[in-house]
Amino acid sequence: MDHTKSLKRRREADGLERDFEEGVDTSADAALEFTRNDEFWLKDGTIVLVCAAVGFRVHQSVLSMHSTVFRDMFEHSSPGRDEHFEECAVVRLHDSADDMHHLLKTLYFRSYGQDKSKLGLPRLTSLLRMARKYFIEELQAELIKHLTVLFPSTLEKYRSPERDEAVPGDFDPMLGVAISEEFDVPTILPVALYLSSRLGLPAILDGGPPHASVPRAILLFREELMGRIADDGEDGDGHSFFARFPCRKSSTCPGLKQTAMNLEWRRYRRLEIHIFKMRPATEACFGADTCKHCLATWTKGEMAYQDALWKNLPSCCQRPSMYTWDALMDPVTTV
Ligand SMILES: [Zn+2]
Repeated sequence: MDHTKSLKRRREADGLERDFEEGVDTSADAALEFTRNDEFWLKDGTIVLVCAAVGFRVHQSVLSMHSTVFRDMFEHSSPGRDEHFEECAVVRLHDSADDMHHLLKTLYFRSYGQDKSKLGLPRLTSLLRMARKYFIEELQAELIKHLTVLFPSTLEKYRSPERDEAVPGDFDPMLGVAISEEFDVPTILPVALYLSSRLGLPAILDGGPPHASVPRAILLFREELMGRIADDGEDGDGHSFFARFPCRKSSTCPGLKQTAMNLEWRRYRRLEIHIFKMRPATEACFGADTCKHCLATWTKGEMAYQDALWKNLPSCCQRPSMYTWDALMDPVTTV
């Protein structure tokens, strides 16, 4: 053992671990100090990871099992020269202690993070960043899959109870936009932008995450979507999209009344109303003298319009190469 290079440690009363290189007191070097993480200071741990002055004593074998990056890191370390603490090699990383803590909880505790509905988007972002950095493929795939539940690519999945149950209480769709951009997950972008565009201008402009491009992308999407809806709607004296015809089934039915259609149409022009969960107008809107055939025709037309709007969401994202859902799905989610 090379004593001139090896590191010795002593524990100080305040709990800080200070490093000493033989003959040279480096205790003044704050970079060599760390406090132990209470949860992950495992007695039989074989490695100490230090993130932002917090030490985690864990197992090289466990980390290597999940991450090729950790495995390569440990395989290529030089035991004789590296920093040590209580027989454990010390590895200093640039991650935040909080990010590392939650990554370790995910890797060590089977139940942690299994219920993704309890996993807010800030935590999911942190885990995705760590999973990607350390190439933990299984975790990456799980997180991306959960994102596609929250921000699905089909209307059927969007309206599903599975999604309703998965959405966390503090759901912030603007973070979905940020995640899509930071981690290159294009399939979640249309719904993330759509949900963000419903938040209103103050929230979009003032409440965004620290990604400069996020509010701009939302506002461009919002303007495009509202323009499309306006174009689809009134064309001077009526709707271009919905069927307009006199009733052919009943001599007493006046057909679909224009004023009622206009009232219904206005709901689509207000983004705060949830277009894709809006129920079609009923007899209460058109009047009791409207026959069932006309009401059924309206219902069919309105649902078809919601389908058409959904289909066009990708084309509102200002990404010419990803103009359709198929194009978004094609480049894969870069897992
Ligand atoms: Zn009718």
